Amino acid sequence: MSAAGCIFCKIVAGEIPATVVRRGDGMLAFKDVNPQAPTHLLVIPTHHVASLNDAKDPQLLGRLLGFARDVARDAGVAERGYRVVMNTNPDGGQTVFHLHLHLLGGRPMTWPPG
Ligand code: AMP
Repeated sequence: MSAAGCIFCKIVAGEIPATVVRRGDGMLAFKDVNPQAPTHLLVIPTHHVASLNDAKDPQLLGRLLGFARDVARDAGVAERGYRVVMNTNPDGGQTVFHLHLHLLGGRPMTWPPG
C-alpha cells in the first residue's frame, strides 16, 4: 500500500526517477540523491511503513537488513566495511517518513556520528 505524497512510494511506483540498484523480496535499493559517502544507497520496503516505530513485523526488519547486506556485497563495500543507519523521527534526523536504511561506504566512517 502506498501513502499519498510519500516520495519513496512514488519511487517504488516509478512515478519519480531513481537509480535503482536492486529490487526483490518486497525491497528496493536505490542511490541517495544527496550522497554523504562514495557509496550511499537507501534500502526500503516497497510497501509503506512510516518509521521504525511503526514497523510491527520483526521479519520485515530482518529481511530489510539482510537485503542491505546483499546490496553492500554487490556494491563492493562488504569487505572493507560499511555503515547502516536508520534515522527515526525528528531527533533521529528522519526527513522522509518511509522506513529506510542508509547504506554508507567507500570511505572510513567516523564515530560518534553528528
Ligand atoms: P532521512 O533524513 O534519514 O529521512 O533520509 C532521507 C534521505 O532521502 C536523504 O539522505 C535524502 O538525500 C534522500 N532523498 C530524498 N529524496 C530523494 C530522492 N528523490 N531520491 C533519492 N534519495 C532521496
